[in-house]
Amino acid sequence: MVLVCFMSGWFFEKVFERVVEGRVVGCGRLCNDFVEVPFVVAEGVNFLYIEFEYDGAGCRLMLGLMDSTDSLRGWCSRCTDKRIRVFISRSSATPGHVPGDIVAGVWRAIVRLDSVSKDGCNYRLRVVGYNTALGDMEFDYLGDVLSKLAKVVNLQEFGLRYPEIFAVSEFAHSCSGNWFEERRTLHSHGGSGWYRGDLHVHTVHSDGRNTLCELLSLAVSRGLDFIVLTDHNTISQNTELVKMRGFCRGLLAIPGMEVTTFYGHVNALGIDRYIDFRRKSREDFEKLVDDIHSAGGVASINHPTIFREPFCRDCPFRYRDLRRFDAVEVWNGPWHLFNNESLSWWHTIVAEGYRVTAVGGSDYHGSNLARLGEPTTWVYAESLNPEGILRGIRMGRVFITHRPEGPIIEVKAIDNSGRVHTIGDEIAESVAKWIELEVSIEMAKKYTFRILTERNVHKIVDIDSNEFKHRERIDVRDAKLIRIEIGKYRNPHELIPQNSDDILALTNPIYITTESLTL
Ligand SMILES: [Zn+2]
Ligand SMILES: [Zn+2]
Repeated sequence: MVLVCFMSGWFFEKVFERVVEGRVVGCGRLCNDFVEVPFVVAEGVNFLYIEFEYDGAGCRLMLGLMDSTDSLRGWCSRCTDKRIRVFISRSSATPGHVPGDIVAGVWRAIVRLDSVSKDGCNYRLRVVGYNTALGDMEFDYLGDVLSKLAKVVNLQEFGLRYPEIFAVSEFAHSCSGNWFEERRTLHSHGGSGWYRGDLHVHTVHSDGRNTLCELLSLAVSRGLDFIVLTDHNTISQNTELVKMRGFCRGLLAIPGMEVTTFYGHVNALGIDRYIDFRRKSREDFEKLVDDIHSAGGVASINHPTIFREPFCRDCPFRYRDLRRFDAVEVWNGPWHLFNNESLSWWHTIVAEGYRVTAVGGSDYHGSNLARLGEPTTWVYAESLNPEGILRGIRMGRVFITHRPEGPIIEVKAIDNSGRVHTIGDEIAESVAKWIELEVSIEMAKKYTFRILTERNVHKIVDIDSNEFKHRERIDVRDAKLIRIEIGKYRNPHELIPQNSDDILALTNPIYITTESLTL
């Protein structure tokens, strides 16, 4: 053990170093499994360096870390090389990893076997623990570390002796510089109303390009009221968010996670803890819904019908049963062929009488594929806070538009007793004979307005003004659900568009309930 002391409180001590070598064998290209590699972390460490290397043609492995208290400390979506190098300290960490106490005991490397050649893959895990003044410092980028070190050591000598410190070039906390000049106050504000947001976004904590600061800033500039942070299989974006509170006036950022499994992706919206992503069976998925609920969240299936092999092997939702989920992302990114298919699937389920909320999500990664807030999910909430937004989603008080600007939709259904209902509400057939449906739509001129029931296209109207209004009486015996769509259709009489028509907006239904409704 070498303790290197520097002037005025600087110190650097290597406490332990361990190497674990092993081999995973022949489960093939569609391996879909995980192995755990345990390693012991000694007492007195506040800075942990982890290096994971593997070889073998056709091998692709991914790395996560669980600490000795069984808490997730990281998932490395960005680590695509065969040599993965990350660090976790008390105050800072590689993106995707959770800073905090380096608790002594048995930690586990969670190795995802994406692809294993028939000759197997050899791996080598090297872990080095330090006790150092660096452990209590936040780093914004490698240069920041170097400039702090350069004040107290000869960098060249230090680098030769402890090369691992310089091996990690990415640092999670990067909200400095200009960002802090925009310092603002996050607060719950506003009364009841429709709030616009994006339920599906990625940052550098998984495979997105933007830091959390950049993403929040962009969301403000796009005019969104809320976003949910849904990085793949990690919660470090949520722990960073805790530090960030106070920096984004008017924008509500809600913790979340995209539970990314081999069999589909599920957004856990509004969770207060990590959700295990190692799911294989139908039962595992049922338990996943329970786990998300017990973490206070909403369980929403993402892009259920998107690209399949060879583009994205695990993206479509293979367990085609969504009845226990709270929501499904029928609109992912720009409207394209797959969304028609998702919309069709969801419509079939709600037509059978199940309550699953249709939502949208941009799946924004910072690239050109999708823009933040396209689509925008509008949620009716009593107040702009996480509980209000999550409750609105659970209740189906949601409509989706192609952009944050709109169109702005208002739907009212007044029954024969004078009660007023809106999107997501249930009207009991036993107490209402008919409803007076009133719809107003702003900013959708030249598009087509459609009223849909569970089994047919009830009405088609061309929108001739930017302040369009429609009113008609509907017998409740004629429909089990009523929902609105706005778009440009090749065949507007088709209940679900079969190809990539231009959809501008769609609402969740107002439900007409009977005794036979299944909930
Ligand atoms: Zn996904
Ligand atoms: Zn995603």
